[in-house]
Formats: sequence, structure tokens, C-alpha cells
Amino acid sequence: RYWRAFVRPLKDDDVRELVVMLRDETDAKRTERMRADFLANASHELRTPLASLAGFVETLRTHAKDDAAARDKFLAIMAEQAGRMTRLIGDLLSLSRIELNEHVPPSGVVDLAQTVQDVVDGTRPLTAERGVTVEVETGEGPFTVTGDRDQLVQVIQNLLDNALKYSPDGKAVRVRIERAATLEAARAASGREGWVALSLLSPDASPQQAAGQAFVAVRVTDEGRGMARQHLPRLSERFYRVEGQKSGGTGLGLAIVKHIVNRHRGGVLVESAEGQGTTFSAYLPAA
Ligand code: ADP
Repeated sequence: RYWRAFVRPLKDDDVRELVVMLRDETDAKRTERMRADFLANASHELRTPLASLAGFVETLRTHAKDDAAARDKFLAIMAEQAGRMTRLIGDLLSLSRIELNEHVPPSGVVDLAQTVQDVVDGTRPLTAERGVTVEVETGEGPFTVTGDRDQLVQVIQNLLDNALKYSPDGKAVRVRIERAATLEAARAASGREGWVALSLLSPDASPQQAAGQAFVAVRVTDEGRGMARQHLPRLSERFYRVEGQKSGGTGLGLAIVKHIVNRHRGGVLVESAEGQGTTFSAYLPAA
């Protein structure tokens, strides 16, 4: 722990008696440290594509000046790097906006079944190109939740993007929408042999569940490579990525999911088995 001590004489001119005050500043220090780490990581993440861009500009001005084939290839890489920076900045802005109003409960009414369908429809061009099928299964409704529609679109979009990104071509992704009587019931219902399940929200951020509060769950399952147990607790850290997975992602998608679901006083569960697949479930309080 980190303590700050304040020492002062009891009376102005008498140093035989001292008052010592101790203040526990561990939490403040930790927050400060997290901020500093975040800034360092964000700068590093932005500098990598920028350095690559600068390098290619230099090459195009010198060695590759008269080589048309090399020029095309380098320009394609530069466009990709510029896209990466745009995505990173977009996600960083999203994250700071979400954090700003994280303590303000959302007030809209959102039909999650319709929202899931809209997001899935939006991915059709990509899935058709890659031969991946996205199946939507709907249990027994109603699926209305109290929430912020744009943010819930972002949650579903990020989970679906990951399922598609980390699945091989030709595999199926399933999105299931169901009601759960309680958060615990929802978690218990999802156990699969050999799979490890873990909540992505820290215990102190877990919803204080009002008696009788039902949940609507959106569960996104892929048949991709899955993840080893040790990665699961760290997935929602900013910029955390499982090694050896080159995806062009920003490493911020699940941090965004976590903060939005937190604001909605819901839960996020990840279940995974290496080589078999992954299910991410977002639980949101039913309206
Ligand atoms: P990214 O932009 O890198 O996808 P995320 O925060 O969305 O960032 O995810 C963090 C990491 O978690 C990813 O880099 C990937 O290693 C892992 N991951 C997320 N979803 C899946 C999934 N469906 N299957 C396997 N690994 C996943």
C-alpha cells in the first residue's frame, strides 16, 4: 500500500508533541499508474503504424521512385496502416465517451432481437465473401431491455466482429438471444464440458441484482481457435491481445464492450476451449 504522512507540531512553537496523520493513497496511485500506462500504450500503438507510414514515404521518394510494381504494393500497405490508425483513434474516442457517462444509467427501450438482426444484416457482404454463415436463433421473448441503442449496437457489433475475425473461412457463427430469469441462472445454463467460463466484469462492478430482475442474453458463439485459460481474465484490458493472433484489431473492442455493459448494469461472460471455439455472452437487464 502507499501511505502519505503529514507531520506537524501540536503547538506552533512546541516540537515535543507532534501530530502525525497518515493517508492511504493506494487507490489514487493505482489510478494514476493506470492512466500513465494507458497513455504510454496508446502512444505506442499509434506510433507503430505511423513509423511504418513514414518509412514507406521515404522508400517511395527514393528507392521505389521508378518501380511501378513496388509503388502499388507499398501504397496498399500504407492505406492499410492509415486505416489502422483511423480505427484506433475511433475506438479511443468511443472509449473516452463511454467512460464519461458510465455512471449515468441509460433510459431508452431497446428491442434486442431487432437490434441483433440489424447488426447481422450489416455483416452480410463480409460473411458472403468469406463463406461464413451467421445464424440467428431466438428463444422465447420479449427481448426488450432498458438501454442505449447505439451503445448496444456497438456491443453486438464488437462481439460479432471478433467471432468472424477469429473464425476460419467456411465456419458458422451463431448468435442466440434468450431470456434468463437471473444472472446466475444464465451463467449456470451455459456450462459446457472442457470449456472455461469467466466473467469479464470485475466483481465490484457486477450488477447489484434487484430481486426478480430478469435478463436478456445475447450469446455469440464461434468455431474458431478459442483461447487458453490464462488469457480469459485479461481480455477486457485495453490493448490486450492473445499472442500469435494477427488480426489488425485495435485491442480495444472488448474494453468497450465491458464499459458499455457495465453502464447498463449487466454482465459479460466468456467461455472458451482451445481449438474448439468461444462464446461471448452479454446479459442486459430486461425492461
Ligand atoms: P481486437 O481488436 O484485437 O480484436 P478485442 O478487445 O476485441 O481486440 O479482443 C482482444 C483479444 O481477445 C483479441 O486480440 C483476440 O486475441 C482475443 N479474442 C477476442 N475475441 C475472440 C474470439 N471470438 N476468438 C478467439 N480470440 C478472441
